[in-house]
Amino acid sequence: MNTMGIKFVADQMLGRLSKWLRLLGYDTLYFKSIADSDLIHIAEGQERFLLTRDTRLMKRRVIRNGLIKAMLVEGDLLDDQLRQVTRELGLLPSDLLPPFCVECNLPLELVSRENVKGRVPPFVYRTQENFTRCPGCGRFYWAGTHWERIKEKISLLTADSKESDAGRGVDS
Ligand SMILES: [Zn+2]
Repeated sequence: MNTMGIKFVADQMLGRLSKWLRLLGYDTLYFKSIADSDLIHIAEGQERFLLTRDTRLMKRRVIRNGLIKAMLVEGDLLDDQLRQVTRELGLLPSDLLPPFCVECNLPLELVSRENVKGRVPPFVYRTQENFTRCPGCGRFYWAGTHWERIKEKISLLTADSKESDAGRGVDS
């Protein structure tokens, strides 16, 4: 399937996975507490791909009939979940700064370098050119070493997903 511009809504079991999908650059809605019917309503109304740990939810008619695209996320571990989703949907990490706040899922806004002075660590201010900020929580983002490490983890996981299934089912 074409995953360009794919948007997700994740059930309440998948908070950490949601943050990682945002880091990968995907618009992902997540609520700490939400009724199944509301999840279905959002997935259908906003054409979002539903991610769930709930086998009962997968049996809903709208999902069986393909009106909502959905995936049963199988593992309890974040790495397994991320591997499953990136593998089955062929998601690739973006080379850019994350476009969505990992906490709020709001689109990040570019801010000028002068505006971050004194509000990010001095080293970051000295060494980084580009900054974005979440209009919701005010969190700043930049392409620093932290982000490099995140990209490394993501590319390791997505590299894994190109290999055979030999290691599948083994918890590391
Ligand atoms: Zn935020």
